[in-house]
Amino acid sequence: MESKVEGRGGARLIVNCKALALLGVLLLCGTLYFSFYGDLTTARRLVREGRFEEALEAYDRSVSRLSSSPGAHSGRAWVLGKLGRFEASLADYDRVLELNGESASIHSGRGFALSSLERWEEADRAFRSALELEPDDIYSLEAGGLVLVELERHEDAIELLDRWFQLHPHGVSTIVLREDCLIEVGRGGEVVASYPDYRVLFRNLEAVTGIRVIYDVSSIASGAPPRDIRCWPAELGHVARLARPLADELERYSREVLRKIELAEIVLCDQAETDREVGGLYHPGDGRVYLTARYAPAATRGAIHHEVHHVIDAYRGDQNTDPAWRALNPSDFEYSGHGDEFASTQPVVLEGFVSRYAMTDPQEDKSETFESLMMNRAWLDGRVAADPVIAAKVALLRERIERIAPGWLDTQD
Ligand SMILES: [Zn+2]
Repeated sequence: MESKVEGRGGARLIVNCKALALLGVLLLCGTLYFSFYGDLTTARRLVREGRFEEALEAYDRSVSRLSSSPGAHSGRAWVLGKLGRFEASLADYDRVLELNGESASIHSGRGFALSSLERWEEADRAFRSALELEPDDIYSLEAGGLVLVELERHEDAIELLDRWFQLHPHGVSTIVLREDCLIEVGRGGEVVASYPDYRVLFRNLEAVTGIRVIYDVSSIASGAPPRDIRCWPAELGHVARLARPLADELERYSREVLRKIELAEIVLCDQAETDREVGGLYHPGDGRVYLTARYAPAATRGAIHHEVHHVIDAYRGDQNTDPAWRALNPSDFEYSGHGDEFASTQPVVLEGFVSRYAMTDPQEDKSETFESLMMNRAWLDGRVAADPVIAAKVALLRERIERIAPGWLDTQD
């Protein structure tokens, strides 16, 4: 009996030991599971919240606990790419491939890191691997096309971008890239054919606004452009695709305003240049605005208004000194001058200015502010509400334009 009891007790004990051991294993596994996947879950949540530095720390913890997890490495690779640490990102993607974690997104992630490092040949191979696994991967088609443009393999780029275009016919920036490739390989006629009404648009524009668009620079009536301007002949494909944006933006001005400020001709150049390459320029000597036709039409839309304001400034006659304008800046502020060729025209939140380029010169400050008023109104309204200097500048611009063209600006509100 005793032994039986003992036996039963022993068996119970053994059973209990087994249960305890199992519980222990489960607890251990659970702890490991939680600490590993807990970190992964936390990392993914931080990514969704845009807290990339903290997400990286969580990924670092998961990688140190389970260095053979492709998921931890691929997540960390993505965050590293987001933080601009491309070498480290690449190392993680390579580790995922070693761990047999191959997928289209891993190859396209490698492609992104490699192209950010300007290792174009390798980036091309990475995007091709992604497309072998997923032929309709829109990102790899687009980014792979960009890489091929960098490698000057325009025919290959067209092939990828054509496939991209079939899947995504409204992606504006890639349409522009594809057209640039077609023009580059001498197939500009296909681009012209896809904008069949460009001549009609220019004729209507002249009828409505009085503005003549000259797209064959050799046909300028009074001879060549002034000597301090270089204007290379524009490709017809670029001209044709620019016709609609040009007409849309210029038709926002009334014929009377344009006549008053004496703007009658716009010359389209492949590239307009002064002492540097520019998107547009106004030359007071011949009263013409010159625009670079090969830039993306979205950028040229803004350049049109920027240049029109230079014309307005010339009409007013005090574009350089303009003490009333300068007085709106803090007393210790000085414009940096045109030497700063890297000053971007991208809208950016700065005290008193709408872009870095606006800080170079009072004329550019006015033109940049006017361009924001015409192209980026909601953003500018936000800046006006937050920044008394910008508010005062916009008010002064409005007041001056109201004097030149009473009531016109109200039609743009
Ligand atoms: Zn300018």
